[in-house]
Amino acid sequence: MTQSNLKMHYDAIIIGSGTCGATIARELCKQNKKVLILERGATLPLKESLLGIGALANEVPVSGKLKDMRALATGGTSSLYFAVATPPPIDTFKSLGIDLTKEYKEALEELPIDYLPDELLGPQSLKLRDSARELGYDWYNQLMFVDQSKCKSGYTYESKWKAKDYVDDAIKDGATIINKAEVTKVITDNKKAIGVEYKLKKKTKSKKFELCKVFGDKIILTAGVLASPIILRNSGVKNVGDRGFYVDPNLVYFGLIPGLKSEKTFVGAMKADLEEDLALGDVNVIKSFYRLIMLSLLKPRHFFSYSNSIGIGVKVSEPLGGKFLDNGQFQKEFSKDVYKKLDKGSEDALKILKNAGAKHIIKGPMNVTGIGGLLRINEHIDNNLQTEFENLYVCDRSFIPDTFRDPPTLTLVCLAKYLANHLLSSNES
Ligand SMILES: Cc1cc2nc3c(=O)[nH]c(=O)nc-3n(C[C@H](O)[C@H](O)[C@H](O)COP(=O)(O)OP(=O)(O)OC[C@H]3O[C@@H](n4cnc5c(N)ncnc54)[C@H](O)[C@@H]3O)c2cc1C
Repeated sequence: MTQSNLKMHYDAIIIGSGTCGATIARELCKQNKKVLILERGATLPLKESLLGIGALANEVPVSGKLKDMRALATGGTSSLYFAVATPPPIDTFKSLGIDLTKEYKEALEELPIDYLPDELLGPQSLKLRDSARELGYDWYNQLMFVDQSKCKSGYTYESKWKAKDYVDDAIKDGATIINKAEVTKVITDNKKAIGVEYKLKKKTKSKKFELCKVFGDKIILTAGVLASPIILRNSGVKNVGDRGFYVDPNLVYFGLIPGLKSEKTFVGAMKADLEEDLALGDVNVIKSFYRLIMLSLLKPRHFFSYSNSIGIGVKVSEPLGGKFLDNGQFQKEFSKDVYKKLDKGSEDALKILKNAGAKHIIKGPMNVTGIGGLLRINEHIDNNLQTEFENLYVCDRSFIPDTFRDPPTLTLVCLAKYLANHLLSSNES
Protein backbone atom coordinates (compact mmCIF):
# COMPACT_ATOMS: atom_id res chain seq x y z
CA MET A 1 0.00 0.00 0.00
CA THR A 2 1.35 3.44 -0.83
CA GLN A 3 0.04 6.82 0.26
CA SER A 4 -1.25 9.64 -1.90
CA ASN A 5 -3.05 12.85 -1.04
CA LEU A 6 -5.59 14.52 -3.29
CA LYS A 7 -4.50 18.17 -3.51
CA MET A 8 -8.01 19.42 -4.16
CA HIS A 9 -10.06 20.81 -1.25
CA TYR A 10 -13.84 20.27 -1.36
CA ASP A 11 -16.83 22.04 0.17
CA ALA A 12 -18.21 18.61 1.00
CA ILE A 13 -16.89 15.04 0.87
CA ILE A 14 -19.69 12.51 0.76
CA ILE A 15 -18.92 8.92 1.74
CA GLY A 16 -21.18 6.55 -0.21
CA SER A 17 -23.48 7.19 -3.16
CA GLY A 18 -26.70 5.47 -1.99
CA THR A 19 -30.05 7.14 -1.41
CA CYS A 20 -28.69 9.60 1.16
CA GLY A 21 -25.32 10.34 -0.44
CA ALA A 22 -26.84 10.82 -3.89
CA THR A 23 -29.60 13.13 -2.62
CA ILE A 24 -27.21 15.32 -0.62
CA ALA A 25 -24.72 15.51 -3.51
CA ARG A 26 -27.48 16.55 -5.90
CA GLU A 27 -28.82 19.26 -3.59
CA LEU A 28 -25.37 20.72 -2.85
CA CYS A 29 -24.30 20.68 -6.51
CA LYS A 30 -27.49 22.51 -7.52
CA GLN A 31 -26.10 25.38 -5.38
CA ASN A 32 -22.65 25.14 -7.02
CA LYS A 33 -20.87 23.50 -4.10
CA LYS A 34 -17.67 21.60 -4.86
CA VAL A 35 -18.58 18.03 -3.98
CA LEU A 36 -16.54 14.82 -3.94
CA ILE A 37 -18.29 11.45 -3.64
CA LEU A 38 -16.17 8.50 -2.50
CA GLU A 39 -17.89 5.25 -3.41
CA ARG A 40 -16.62 1.81 -2.36
CA GLY A 41 -18.24 -0.01 -5.28
CA ALA A 42 -17.97 0.38 -9.03
CA THR A 43 -20.44 1.99 -11.39
CA LEU A 44 -22.10 -1.21 -12.56
CA PRO A 45 -24.60 -1.72 -15.36
CA LEU A 46 -27.85 -2.07 -13.41
CA LYS A 47 -29.72 -5.24 -14.31
CA GLU A 48 -32.13 -7.51 -12.50
CA SER A 49 -30.80 -10.70 -14.08
CA LEU A 50 -29.23 -13.45 -11.95
CA LEU A 51 -25.76 -12.19 -12.92
CA GLY A 52 -26.73 -8.53 -12.46
CA ILE A 53 -28.03 -9.11 -8.93
CA GLY A 54 -25.04 -11.34 -8.16
CA ALA A 55 -22.67 -8.50 -9.13
CA LEU A 56 -24.55 -5.93 -7.03
CA ALA A 57 -25.47 -7.83 -3.89
CA ASN A 58 -23.23 -7.97 -0.84
CA GLU A 59 -24.33 -9.87 2.27
CA VAL A 60 -23.17 -9.06 5.80
CA PRO A 61 -23.78 -11.37 8.79
CA VAL A 62 -25.87 -9.60 11.41
CA SER A 63 -27.08 -12.32 13.77
CA GLY A 64 -25.75 -15.87 13.72
CA LYS A 65 -26.37 -17.14 10.22
CA LEU A 66 -28.71 -14.29 9.27
CA LYS A 67 -27.43 -11.78 6.79
CA ASP A 68 -28.47 -8.29 5.77
CA MET A 69 -28.11 -7.36 2.13
CA ARG A 70 -26.78 -4.17 0.56
CA ALA A 71 -25.42 -3.14 -2.83
CA LEU A 72 -21.85 -1.89 -3.07
CA ALA A 73 -22.13 0.16 -6.25
CA THR A 74 -22.92 3.66 -7.46
CA GLY A 75 -26.51 4.27 -6.31
CA GLY A 76 -26.17 1.84 -3.38
CA THR A 77 -28.93 -0.48 -2.23
CA SER A 78 -31.67 1.29 -4.19
CA SER A 79 -30.24 -0.61 -7.19
CA LEU A 80 -31.85 -3.78 -5.85
CA TYR A 81 -34.61 -2.55 -3.56
CA PHE A 82 -38.32 -3.24 -4.07
CA ALA A 83 -39.37 0.43 -4.34
CA VAL A 84 -41.90 0.59 -1.49
CA ALA A 85 -42.26 4.28 -0.55
CA THR A 86 -43.52 4.42 3.05
CA PRO A 87 -44.09 8.02 4.23
CA PRO A 88 -41.69 9.28 6.92
CA PRO A 89 -42.79 9.35 10.58
CA ILE A 90 -43.04 13.14 10.66
CA ASP A 91 -44.29 13.40 14.28
CA THR A 92 -41.58 11.10 15.64
CA PHE A 93 -38.90 13.25 14.02
CA LYS A 94 -40.60 16.47 15.16
CA SER A 95 -40.43 15.24 18.75
CA LEU A 96 -36.67 14.89 18.25
CA GLY A 97 -36.30 18.42 16.89
CA ILE A 98 -36.27 17.50 13.19
CA ASP A 99 -39.10 18.88 11.07
CA LEU A 100 -39.27 17.03 7.74
CA THR A 101 -42.57 18.56 6.57
CA LYS A 102 -41.02 20.75 3.85
CA GLU A 103 -38.65 18.04 2.63
CA TYR A 104 -41.44 15.46 2.45
CA LYS A 105 -43.58 17.81 0.38
CA GLU A 106 -40.65 18.43 -1.96
CA ALA A 107 -39.93 14.68 -2.29
CA LEU A 108 -43.56 13.98 -3.19
CA GLU A 109 -43.41 16.64 -5.91
CA GLU A 110 -40.11 15.39 -7.30
CA LEU A 111 -40.37 11.61 -7.17
CA PRO A 112 -42.77 9.22 -8.91
CA ILE A 113 -44.71 8.05 -5.84
CA ASP A 114 -48.16 6.51 -6.09
CA TYR A 115 -50.26 3.40 -5.48
CA LEU A 116 -50.16 0.85 -8.28
CA PRO A 117 -53.34 -0.02 -10.18
CA ASP A 118 -54.34 -3.68 -10.47
CA GLU A 119 -53.10 -3.78 -14.10
CA LEU A 120 -49.54 -3.39 -12.82
CA LEU A 121 -49.79 -6.19 -10.28
CA GLY A 122 -49.06 -9.77 -11.31
CA PRO A 123 -51.73 -12.52 -11.11
CA GLN A 124 -49.92 -14.03 -8.08
CA SER A 125 -50.15 -10.71 -6.14
CA LEU A 126 -53.84 -10.32 -6.96
CA LYS A 127 -54.53 -13.94 -6.01
CA LEU A 128 -52.79 -13.41 -2.67
CA ARG A 129 -54.72 -10.20 -2.01
CA ASP A 130 -58.07 -11.77 -2.87
CA SER A 131 -57.39 -14.76 -0.64
CA ALA A 132 -56.28 -12.57 2.30
CA ARG A 133 -59.28 -10.26 1.97
CA GLU A 134 -61.68 -13.21 1.65
CA LEU A 135 -60.37 -14.43 5.02
CA GLY A 136 -60.91 -10.98 6.55
CA TYR A 137 -57.35 -9.61 6.59
CA ASP A 138 -56.87 -5.89 5.94
CA TRP A 139 -54.53 -6.46 2.98
CA TYR A 140 -53.72 -2.94 1.80
CA ASN A 141 -51.70 -1.27 -0.97
CA GLN A 142 -48.47 0.56 -0.27
CA LEU A 143 -47.13 3.65 -2.02
CA MET A 144 -44.40 2.78 -4.52
CA PHE A 145 -41.50 4.68 -6.15
CA VAL A 146 -42.64 3.73 -9.66
CA ASP A 147 -42.83 5.82 -12.79
CA GLN A 148 -45.96 4.22 -14.23
CA SER A 149 -45.37 5.78 -17.66
CA LYS A 150 -42.50 3.27 -17.99
CA CYS A 151 -44.79 0.30 -17.35
CA LYS A 152 -46.75 0.16 -20.62
CA SER A 153 -46.80 -3.63 -20.55
CA GLY A 154 -46.41 -4.27 -16.83
CA TYR A 155 -43.43 -4.41 -14.50
CA THR A 156 -40.11 -2.91 -15.57
CA TYR A 157 -36.94 -2.46 -13.52
CA GLU A 158 -36.38 0.89 -15.23
CA SER A 159 -39.64 2.26 -13.81
CA LYS A 160 -38.37 2.07 -10.21
CA TRP A 161 -36.67 5.23 -8.94
CA LYS A 162 -33.02 4.64 -8.05
CA ALA A 163 -30.44 6.83 -6.33
CA LYS A 164 -28.17 6.42 -9.36
CA ASP A 165 -30.42 8.98 -11.13
CA TYR A 166 -29.54 11.54 -8.45
CA VAL A 167 -25.82 10.69 -8.68
CA ASP A 168 -26.02 11.36 -12.44
CA ASP A 169 -27.72 14.74 -11.76
CA ALA A 170 -24.99 15.68 -9.26
CA ILE A 171 -22.24 14.74 -11.70
CA LYS A 172 -23.91 16.82 -14.44
CA ASP A 173 -23.87 19.72 -11.97
CA GLY A 174 -20.15 19.32 -11.26
CA ALA A 175 -19.74 16.60 -8.60
CA THR A 176 -16.68 14.34 -8.80
CA ILE A 177 -17.07 10.65 -7.99
CA ILE A 178 -14.20 8.30 -7.20
CA ASN A 179 -15.24 4.66 -7.42
CA LYS A 180 -13.56 1.71 -5.66
CA ALA A 181 -12.63 4.10 -2.87
CA GLU A 182 -13.27 2.48 0.52
CA VAL A 183 -13.25 5.04 3.31
CA THR A 184 -11.72 3.65 6.49
CA LYS A 185 -11.78 6.67 8.77
CA VAL A 186 -12.42 10.37 9.04
CA ILE A 187 -9.41 12.59 9.74
CA THR A 188 -10.02 14.87 12.71
CA ASP A 189 -8.08 17.69 14.29
CA ASN A 190 -8.98 19.18 17.63
CA LYS A 191 -12.54 17.74 17.61
CA LYS A 192 -13.11 18.92 14.03
CA ALA A 193 -13.44 16.69 10.95
CA ILE A 194 -11.09 17.90 8.25
CA GLY A 195 -10.75 15.04 5.78
CA VAL A 196 -11.03 11.39 4.98
CA GLU A 197 -8.69 8.43 4.60
CA TYR A 198 -9.56 5.83 2.00
CA LYS A 199 -8.19 2.78 0.22
CA LEU A 200 -8.29 3.08 -3.53
CA LYS A 201 -8.44 -0.26 -5.33
CA LYS A 202 -5.66 -0.68 -7.91
CA LYS A 203 -5.54 -2.97 -10.89
CA THR A 204 -1.77 -3.58 -10.84
CA LYS A 205 -0.39 -6.88 -9.57
CA SER A 206 2.24 -5.23 -7.37
CA LYS A 207 -0.24 -3.41 -5.12
CA LYS A 208 -3.89 -4.00 -4.43
CA PHE A 209 -4.64 -0.69 -2.72
CA GLU A 210 -3.34 2.81 -2.55
CA LEU A 211 -3.91 4.64 0.72
CA CYS A 212 -5.21 8.15 0.01
CA LYS A 213 -6.27 11.24 1.93
CA VAL A 214 -8.54 14.07 0.87
CA PHE A 215 -9.65 17.21 2.69
CA GLY A 216 -12.90 19.16 2.82
CA ASP A 217 -15.01 21.56 4.88
CA LYS A 218 -17.85 19.16 5.59
CA ILE A 219 -17.57 15.36 5.82
CA ILE A 220 -20.86 13.56 5.28
CA LEU A 221 -21.05 9.89 6.12
CA THR A 222 -23.72 8.10 4.10
CA ALA A 223 -22.15 4.65 3.78
CA GLY A 224 -25.26 2.82 5.00
CA VAL A 225 -26.07 1.21 8.32
CA LEU A 226 -23.67 -1.70 7.77
CA ALA A 227 -20.67 0.60 7.23
CA SER A 228 -21.17 4.04 8.82
CA PRO A 229 -21.10 2.81 12.46
CA ILE A 230 -17.74 1.11 11.80
CA ILE A 231 -16.26 4.24 10.20
CA LEU A 232 -17.55 6.37 13.09
CA ARG A 233 -16.01 4.06 15.63
CA ASN A 234 -12.67 3.99 13.73
CA SER A 235 -12.75 7.79 13.73
CA GLY A 236 -13.11 8.09 17.51
CA VAL A 237 -16.87 8.68 17.90
CA LYS A 238 -17.82 7.21 21.26
CA ASN A 239 -20.56 4.76 22.30
CA VAL A 240 -21.62 3.74 18.78
CA GLY A 241 -24.10 0.86 19.06
CA ASP A 242 -23.87 0.92 22.86
CA ARG A 243 -27.52 -0.12 23.25
CA GLY A 244 -27.39 -2.74 20.56
CA PHE A 245 -29.52 -2.74 17.46
CA TYR A 246 -32.68 -4.22 15.99
CA VAL A 247 -32.70 -6.62 13.10
CA ASP A 248 -36.20 -7.64 12.13
CA PRO A 249 -36.38 -11.29 11.07
CA ASN A 250 -38.71 -12.55 8.38
CA LEU A 251 -39.79 -15.85 6.94
CA VAL A 252 -41.12 -16.51 3.47
CA TYR A 253 -43.42 -19.23 2.20
CA PHE A 254 -43.86 -20.17 -1.45
CA GLY A 255 -46.47 -22.42 -2.98
CA LEU A 256 -47.52 -23.49 -6.47
CA ILE A 257 -50.92 -22.96 -8.09
CA PRO A 258 -51.27 -24.74 -11.46
CA GLY A 259 -52.25 -22.36 -14.28
CA LEU A 260 -51.65 -19.19 -12.24
CA LYS A 261 -49.47 -17.54 -14.95
CA SER A 262 -47.33 -15.59 -12.48
CA GLU A 263 -45.22 -12.88 -14.02
CA LYS A 264 -42.77 -10.18 -12.97
CA THR A 265 -44.50 -7.97 -10.44
CA PHE A 266 -43.78 -5.22 -7.91
CA VAL A 267 -42.90 -7.12 -4.75
CA GLY A 268 -43.98 -5.47 -1.51
CA ALA A 269 -46.82 -3.50 -3.08
CA MET A 270 -49.30 -4.94 -0.56
CA LYS A 271 -49.27 -6.00 3.08
CA ALA A 272 -51.31 -6.54 6.27
CA ASP A 273 -50.45 -5.51 9.83
CA LEU A 274 -51.50 -8.29 12.21
CA GLU A 275 -50.19 -6.70 15.40
CA GLU A 276 -47.95 -3.71 16.17
CA ASP A 277 -44.85 -5.85 15.75
CA LEU A 278 -46.11 -8.52 13.34
CA ALA A 279 -46.88 -8.08 9.64
CA LEU A 280 -47.54 -10.15 6.53
CA GLY A 281 -46.51 -9.03 3.06
CA ASP A 282 -46.47 -9.85 -0.61
CA VAL A 283 -43.09 -11.41 -1.42
CA ASN A 284 -43.76 -12.23 -5.04
CA VAL A 285 -40.24 -11.42 -6.15
CA ILE A 286 -39.14 -11.28 -9.76
CA LYS A 287 -37.94 -14.46 -11.45
CA SER A 288 -34.19 -13.94 -10.85
CA PHE A 289 -34.64 -13.33 -7.10
CA TYR A 290 -37.08 -16.27 -6.92
CA ARG A 291 -34.63 -18.56 -8.65
CA LEU A 292 -31.80 -17.50 -6.34
CA ILE A 293 -33.99 -18.47 -3.36
CA MET A 294 -34.96 -21.83 -4.88
CA LEU A 295 -31.35 -22.54 -5.78
CA SER A 296 -30.29 -21.91 -2.18
CA LEU A 297 -33.11 -24.21 -0.95
CA LEU A 298 -32.30 -26.90 -3.54
CA LYS A 299 -35.92 -26.99 -4.77
CA PRO A 300 -35.75 -27.92 -8.49
CA ARG A 301 -39.54 -28.31 -8.85
CA HIS A 302 -40.11 -24.77 -7.60
CA PHE A 303 -37.05 -23.41 -9.44
CA PHE A 304 -38.64 -24.36 -12.77
CA SER A 305 -42.20 -23.32 -11.81
CA TYR A 306 -42.03 -19.52 -11.47
CA SER A 307 -45.18 -19.16 -13.55
CA ASN A 308 -47.17 -21.13 -10.94
CA SER A 309 -45.55 -19.58 -7.90
CA ILE A 310 -47.10 -17.49 -5.15
CA GLY A 311 -45.30 -16.15 -2.08
CA ILE A 312 -46.05 -14.54 1.27
CA GLY A 313 -43.74 -13.18 3.99
CA VAL A 314 -43.95 -12.84 7.78
CA LYS A 315 -42.05 -10.06 9.53
CA VAL A 316 -41.49 -9.52 13.25
CA SER A 317 -40.19 -6.26 14.77
CA GLU A 318 -37.90 -7.19 17.64
CA PRO A 319 -36.45 -5.05 20.46
CA LEU A 320 -33.04 -3.36 20.62
CA GLY A 321 -30.24 -5.56 21.94
CA GLY A 322 -27.23 -7.59 20.88
CA LYS A 323 -23.66 -6.42 20.52
CA PHE A 324 -21.87 -4.34 17.94
CA LEU A 325 -18.43 -5.86 18.46
CA ASP A 326 -15.07 -4.07 18.35
CA ASN A 327 -14.22 -5.87 15.11
CA GLY A 328 -17.32 -4.29 13.50
CA GLN A 329 -19.42 -7.47 13.58
CA PHE A 330 -23.05 -7.58 14.68
CA GLN A 331 -24.02 -10.29 17.18
CA LYS A 332 -27.52 -11.08 18.37
CA GLU A 333 -29.72 -13.94 19.61
CA PHE A 334 -33.49 -13.67 19.25
CA SER A 335 -35.72 -14.23 22.28
CA LYS A 336 -38.38 -16.97 22.49
CA ASP A 337 -41.03 -14.28 21.99
CA VAL A 338 -39.65 -13.48 18.56
CA TYR A 339 -39.91 -17.13 17.49
CA LYS A 340 -43.45 -17.34 18.93
CA LYS A 341 -44.45 -14.29 16.87
CA LEU A 342 -42.92 -15.82 13.74
CA ASP A 343 -44.95 -19.00 14.40
CA LYS A 344 -48.12 -16.96 14.90
CA GLY A 345 -47.54 -15.04 11.64
CA SER A 346 -46.68 -18.26 9.82
CA GLU A 347 -50.05 -19.77 10.74
CA ASP A 348 -51.85 -16.80 9.17
CA ALA A 349 -49.54 -16.83 6.13
CA LEU A 350 -50.18 -20.52 5.49
CA LYS A 351 -53.95 -20.04 5.88
CA ILE A 352 -53.87 -17.37 3.17
CA LEU A 353 -51.73 -19.46 0.81
CA LYS A 354 -53.89 -22.56 1.23
CA ASN A 355 -57.08 -20.55 0.78
CA ALA A 356 -55.60 -19.27 -2.50
CA GLY A 357 -55.25 -22.89 -3.64
CA ALA A 358 -51.48 -23.21 -3.19
CA LYS A 359 -49.95 -26.69 -3.06
CA HIS A 360 -46.36 -27.86 -2.44
CA ILE A 361 -45.83 -25.06 0.06
CA ILE A 362 -42.23 -24.64 1.17
CA LYS A 363 -40.64 -22.47 3.82
CA GLY A 364 -37.81 -20.21 2.73
CA PRO A 365 -34.80 -19.33 4.85
CA MET A 366 -35.20 -16.94 7.77
CA ASN A 367 -33.87 -13.58 6.68
CA VAL A 368 -33.74 -9.99 7.88
CA THR A 369 -35.47 -6.89 6.56
CA GLY A 370 -32.74 -4.54 7.66
CA ILE A 371 -30.75 -3.56 10.69
CA GLY A 372 -30.97 -0.27 12.57
CA GLY A 373 -30.94 1.58 15.86
CA LEU A 374 -27.16 1.86 16.32
CA LEU A 375 -27.15 5.66 16.72
CA ARG A 376 -29.52 7.96 18.54
CA ILE A 377 -30.60 11.49 17.68
CA ASN A 378 -29.67 13.95 20.46
CA GLU A 379 -27.16 11.42 21.77
CA HIS A 380 -24.71 10.33 19.06
CA ILE A 381 -25.80 13.06 16.65
CA ASP A 382 -27.59 16.37 17.16
CA ASN A 383 -30.75 17.43 15.37
CA ASN A 384 -28.65 18.76 12.47
CA LEU A 385 -27.24 15.23 12.10
CA GLN A 386 -23.80 16.40 13.26
CA THR A 387 -21.67 14.06 15.40
CA GLU A 388 -19.53 15.01 18.39
CA PHE A 389 -16.93 16.13 15.82
CA GLU A 390 -17.66 19.51 14.26
CA ASN A 391 -18.31 19.22 10.49
CA LEU A 392 -18.82 15.44 10.60
CA TYR A 393 -22.40 14.50 9.71
CA VAL A 394 -24.18 11.14 9.33
CA CYS A 395 -27.18 10.40 7.18
CA ASP A 396 -28.43 6.84 6.75
CA ARG A 397 -30.58 4.22 8.45
CA SER A 398 -28.21 3.99 11.46
CA PHE A 399 -30.22 6.55 13.46
CA ILE A 400 -33.80 6.11 12.27
CA PRO A 401 -35.77 5.81 15.55
CA ASP A 402 -36.49 2.20 16.44
CA THR A 403 -40.24 2.86 16.59
CA PHE A 404 -40.22 3.13 12.78
CA ARG A 405 -39.53 -0.26 11.17
CA ASP A 406 -41.03 0.33 7.76
CA PRO A 407 -39.06 0.59 4.50
CA PRO A 408 -36.87 3.66 5.06
CA THR A 409 -35.99 5.03 1.60
CA LEU A 410 -38.50 7.89 1.46
CA THR A 411 -37.56 8.88 5.02
CA LEU A 412 -33.89 8.81 3.99
CA VAL A 413 -34.55 11.07 0.98
CA CYS A 414 -36.27 13.55 3.34
CA LEU A 415 -33.45 13.40 5.89
CA ALA A 416 -30.85 13.89 3.16
CA LYS A 417 -32.69 16.95 1.85
CA TYR A 418 -33.00 18.23 5.43
CA LEU A 419 -29.24 17.90 5.97
CA ALA A 420 -28.45 19.53 2.61
CA ASN A 421 -30.76 22.46 3.50
CA HIS A 422 -29.03 22.84 6.85
CA LEU A 423 -25.55 22.80 5.26
CA LEU A 424 -26.55 25.33 2.62
CA SER A 425 -28.21 27.70 5.09
CA SER A 426 -25.37 27.52 7.62
CA ASN A 427 -22.87 28.21 4.79
CA GLU A 428 -24.69 31.39 3.82
CA SER A 429 -24.78 32.82 7.33
C1 LIG B 1 -33.56 -6.56 -1.15
C2 LIG B 1 -33.88 -5.23 -0.52
C3 LIG B 1 -35.10 -4.63 -0.77
C4 LIG B 1 -35.40 -3.41 -0.20
N1 LIG B 1 -36.60 -2.83 -0.50
C5 LIG B 1 -36.89 -1.63 0.01
C6 LIG B 1 -38.09 -0.97 -0.35
O1 LIG B 1 -38.90 -1.49 -1.10
N2 LIG B 1 -38.32 0.26 0.15
C7 LIG B 1 -37.45 0.89 1.00
O2 LIG B 1 -37.72 2.00 1.44
N3 LIG B 1 -36.30 0.28 1.36
C8 LIG B 1 -35.99 -0.94 0.87
N4 LIG B 1 -34.81 -1.53 1.20
C9 LIG B 1 -33.89 -0.83 2.09
C10 LIG B 1 -33.23 0.34 1.37
O3 LIG B 1 -32.86 0.00 0.07
C11 LIG B 1 -32.01 0.84 2.13
O4 LIG B 1 -32.35 0.98 3.48
C12 LIG B 1 -31.54 2.17 1.62
O5 LIG B 1 -31.22 2.06 0.25
C13 LIG B 1 -30.33 2.61 2.38
O6 LIG B 1 -29.82 3.79 1.79
P1 LIG B 1 -28.44 4.38 2.30
O7 LIG B 1 -28.13 5.58 1.50
O8 LIG B 1 -28.48 4.55 3.78
O9 LIG B 1 -27.40 3.20 2.07
P2 LIG B 1 -27.00 2.44 0.74
O10 LIG B 1 -28.02 2.58 -0.30
O11 LIG B 1 -26.62 1.05 1.14
O12 LIG B 1 -25.73 3.25 0.26
C14 LIG B 1 -24.49 3.20 0.91
C15 LIG B 1 -23.42 3.43 -0.14
O13 LIG B 1 -22.17 3.56 0.53
C16 LIG B 1 -21.19 2.77 -0.11
N5 LIG B 1 -20.20 2.41 0.92
C17 LIG B 1 -20.31 1.47 1.89
N6 LIG B 1 -19.18 1.45 2.63
C18 LIG B 1 -18.37 2.41 2.14
C19 LIG B 1 -17.07 2.86 2.48
N7 LIG B 1 -16.39 2.36 3.51
N8 LIG B 1 -16.50 3.85 1.72
C20 LIG B 1 -17.16 4.39 0.66
N9 LIG B 1 -18.42 3.99 0.30
C21 LIG B 1 -19.01 3.03 1.03
C22 LIG B 1 -21.95 1.59 -0.66
O14 LIG B 1 -21.25 1.00 -1.74
C23 LIG B 1 -23.25 2.26 -1.10
O15 LIG B 1 -23.19 2.75 -2.40
C24 LIG B 1 -34.47 -2.76 0.65
C25 LIG B 1 -33.25 -3.36 0.92
C26 LIG B 1 -32.94 -4.58 0.34
C27 LIG B 1 -31.60 -5.21 0.63
